[in-house]
Amino acid sequence: LMKQYLKIKANHPVALLFFRMGDFYELFFDDAYLASEVLNITLTKRGKLNGEEIPMCGVPHHASDRYIETLIKKGFHVAICEQTETPEDAKKRGYKEIVNRDVVRIITPGTLVEDNLLEHKKSNFLLAINEIRGDLSIAWTDISTGSFFVKSVSKGNLYSSMERIRPSEILISHSFSEENILGLKEKNYKVTVLSGSSFNSTNAQEKLLDHYGVKTIKSFGSFSFSMIGALGAILDYLIMTQNSNILQLMRPVLEDKNSILEIDQHTRKNLEINFSLAGEKEGSLISILDTTKTSFGSRLLDLRVNAPSADINTIIESLSVTEFFNKEASIAKAIREILSNCPDFERALSRLACYRSSFQDLIILKKGILVTREVKSLLKKIINGDKKIPKKITSIILEIYDFNDALTFLNKALSDKPLDLVNKVSYINPGFDAELDNLRGTIEKSGSILQKLEEDLILNTNISSLKIKQNNVLGYFIELTSKSANAFSESENSHDFIHRQTTANTVRFTNSQLISLETKINTALSRIEEIENRICGQIQKVILDLSSEIRSSAESIGQIDYFSSLGVKAREENWVRPDILGEKVLEICEGRHPVVENNLRDKSDGTFIPNDCNLNQKNLINLITGPNMAGKSTFLRQNAIIIIMAQLGSFVPAKKARIGLVDRVFSRIGASDDLTQGHSTFMIEMLETAAIINQATKRSFVILDEIGRGTSTFDGLSIAWATLEHLHNTNNCRTLFATHYHELAHLDESLPSLSNLTVKIKEHEGELIFLHKIVKGFSNHSFGIKVAKLAGIPNIVTERASDILKSLEDSSVSNRKKNKILNRTKKIEKKESSDAENQSQLKNLLKSLDIDNLSPKEALHLLYKIQGDLKS
Ligand code: ATP
Repeated sequence: LMKQYLKIKANHPVALLFFRMGDFYELFFDDAYLASEVLNITLTKRGKLNGEEIPMCGVPHHASDRYIETLIKKGFHVAICEQTETPEDAKKRGYKEIVNRDVVRIITPGTLVEDNLLEHKKSNFLLAINEIRGDLSIAWTDISTGSFFVKSVSKGNLYSSMERIRPSEILISHSFSEENILGLKEKNYKVTVLSGSSFNSTNAQEKLLDHYGVKTIKSFGSFSFSMIGALGAILDYLIMTQNSNILQLMRPVLEDKNSILEIDQHTRKNLEINFSLAGEKEGSLISILDTTKTSFGSRLLDLRVNAPSADINTIIESLSVTEFFNKEASIAKAIREILSNCPDFERALSRLACYRSSFQDLIILKKGILVTREVKSLLKKIINGDKKIPKKITSIILEIYDFNDALTFLNKALSDKPLDLVNKVSYINPGFDAELDNLRGTIEKSGSILQKLEEDLILNTNISSLKIKQNNVLGYFIELTSKSANAFSESENSHDFIHRQTTANTVRFTNSQLISLETKINTALSRIEEIENRICGQIQKVILDLSSEIRSSAESIGQIDYFSSLGVKAREENWVRPDILGEKVLEICEGRHPVVENNLRDKSDGTFIPNDCNLNQKNLINLITGPNMAGKSTFLRQNAIIIIMAQLGSFVPAKKARIGLVDRVFSRIGASDDLTQGHSTFMIEMLETAAIINQATKRSFVILDEIGRGTSTFDGLSIAWATLEHLHNTNNCRTLFATHYHELAHLDESLPSLSNLTVKIKEHEGELIFLHKIVKGFSNHSFGIKVAKLAGIPNIVTERASDILKSLEDSSVSNRKKNKILNRTKKIEKKESSDAENQSQLKNLLKSLDIDNLSPKEALHLLYKIQGDLKS
C-alpha cells in the first residue's frame, strides 16, 4: 500500500494527497503533519517505513467537503485519490492484490465545481497572465460554467483588469519576474507557477486545436501569440488538474479592448460597487440592483456591474430589453415566477462532466430543462402575439432549446425527487427498466417472507420474544433474550441455529433458511445498484451530449433574468431609460444616488433631494464648493453611478438622462492609507490622482473629491490647482471636482470650460440646515466648525477654533492677491520658456570659464552675479 502511495504522491508533490481507504481519505507523512495542524484533527501513525513510524491523519469521506473547503480557502491544493476498482476486482487479480488507486482530480482555488465551495452569485475565475516580448495578455475561465475569455492588456491596466475579474487563482510562468510574483502575492492573489512550456504558444496552439477539434484557431478570433500562450496555459492546467475531464470549456471569447467601460480598483471601491466602504455587501450598488431569481442571472449581473459595456449599440440594445420588461409588468412577473423555481443547472452540468454521475445533479438538470422550456414557451407566445419585441429578445429566445426528446427520456427514467423504495432511496422511475422492477419486487416480497419466517420460528421454538433483525455488521439475524436463549440451547430445535453473537442482554443466531433469504436479498440489492449505476451513466450521457445546448439555454435564461429584474426594479424605484449618445455630454435631470436614497427611505430619515448635472464641451468641469456634510460627495458619486448603471443596461435614478458614451470612470475620493503596500494617506491620494492624469481620455468621466488634503495647505492647494488646469487643458474630460479650497473657485476666470457649483444651506438661529441642493455659484465657507460641533466636539474647543479662524481669515490672502496668483497661472507657459533661455545662458557662461585662472575673489564675484541673475 505504501509503495502505491509513494508512487502516486511522487506525481503530486505540491498538492495534499487525499488517499482513499475505505470510508476515509487518509494523509501520510508531511501531508499528515500539515493537514492535522491546519484542520485541527488528530495525528496518528500507521505502519513503518525504513524503521520509522509513518505519520497519518484522515477525514471521513462523507464529510470531506468541509475539510477540503478549509484547505482551499487557505490556498492549498488537494489531490483526490480514489479507488478505481472494487476489492472484488482486485482479488480477481490475485489474493493479496490491493485495489488500484488513481488521482481523479486536483482541487485548487481556481478549479472548483463543488456547490458548497462556490459562491452562488459570483463567478470563480482561474486566470493566466502571459507576456511575450512585452506583449501582455490574460486569459480567464470559470470551469463551473465553462466560460472562457482572453484579452490583451497594457502593463498599466493589468491590475485594474484583475480587480475587475477577481480571479481565485492566477497562473504564471516561472520566468515571470520575482518582483511581479511578489506584487501579486502582496495583493493577496493565490498564485500558481507553471513551467514555461505551459505558456509556449506553439504547444498551446496544438492543444487548443486538439481540444476544440478545429483546424485553425482563427475560427475563434484573431489572437496574438501572447494570448494563445495564456489560453494554452489554462488548458494545460485544467488537463493536469481535472484529469482531462474538461469537455465543458466553451470556445474562448476575445474581449475587445474598447468594449468595456473600465473602472479601476480605487473607483470600484470608492463608488461602493461590490461592497460598502465598511466591507459589507449591504449598502453596495450591486445589492440594490440584484433582484435576480437565478444563480446565473446574479452571476451575469456581477460580471456586468464590474464591466459595463462601452459599445453604444450594445448598450442601446440592452436598454431596449430592460424597457420591454419595464413596460410589460405582467409578462415580467410571469417570467420571474417561473425563474424562481430554476436551480443552478449550469454548474450541475460542470459537476457532471468533472465527476462520475450524481443523481442529485441529474435531477437539478432535469428541473432546469423543464424551467427552460416553460420560459421559452411563454416568450414564444409573446413573440407570436401583437406586441413589439426588441430584436435582442428574439435572438435570446433562439438560443433557448426545447429538449423534446431528452425530456421524454428524462421523464420516463428519472423521478423529480428521491423515491423511498423498499428502504432504499432511488431516483429511477418504476416502469423504466423491467429487471429493476423485478428485483425491487423481490426485495419487497422479502419483507413478508421474513415476517413469515419469524412467525414459523416463534411457533417452532415457542419463544414469543424471538425476533428477526438486521444491522450493518451482522446482516440478518435471529435474536433471543439471554434468558430464553439459555433454555432454548437445551431444546432439540436448537441444532439448526448457528450462533453469531452474544451481547449483554441478547444472543444472536442465524439458520439455513435465513442465510439463503439473506443471500437472495443481497444479490438483488447489489444487482439493483449495478442497474441504477448503469442507468445513471445512460442519463448522464444523454445530458452531456446536449451540453452546448444546455449551456446556451442557461446563458439565455440568465439574460432574461438579468433584464427582467432590471426592468422590474426600474419600475419599483421610478428610474428612467437614459439616452446614450455619441456626443460628450452628461445631462442628468433630477438625479439621485440609488443607495443613499434607499438608506434614507429605510431609516425614514428624510427624503433624497434630486440634483441636476449638466456637462458638455463648453462646460466640461464643475467645481463644487460648499459646506461640509452638504452633499458634495454624494452628488459626485451619484453621477458616476448613473453612468455605470446606464452602460450596464439599467434604467437610472433620474427624471431624464442624456449620457455621452464614457470609456473609463475615474475617482479620487476619501483618505485612507495602505500600510501593507507601504503607502501613506497622501501617497494613495497622489497615486489615484496620477492614474487619472495619465490615463483619462477625452471620453472619460472623472470625479475628484478633494485633492491634496493630506499635505500642507499650500502644497495641497497648488496640486489641486495644477491638476484642474491639466484636466481642463489636456485630458479635456467631463469632470466633477469637489473642494474646500475656496481659492479654486476663481479658476473660472482663466479656464473657460470650468464653472462653479455650490450646495445650498440655510442658517437658522445659529444652526445649519442642509438643503442638499446643488446650485450655480461658489461658497467661501465650509462651516467646518459648525459640523465639528454637530459631531460632538466640546464647545471649549469649537469656540477657540472660531477665534483662531477669525484671526486667520483676517490675515489671509486678499481677493486681489488671489487674482494676482491667477494671472500668474496664465503666464506660466511664458515663464517656462524664459526659464529655459536663462538656463542655457548659464550653461554657456559656466562652460566658457577658465576656472584654474580665476582668483578666489573673481570666483566669488561670479557666484554673486549668477545668483543675482537667477533671483531677478
Ligand atoms: P464633506 O465635505 O464633509 O465630505 P459632503 O458635502 O461631501 O461632506 P456628503 O458626504 O455627500 O457631504 O453628504 C453627507 C450626508 O448628507 C450623506 O451621508 C447623506 O445622508 C446626506 N445627503 C447628501 N446628499 C443628499 C441629498 N441629495 N438628499 C438627501 N440627503 C443627502
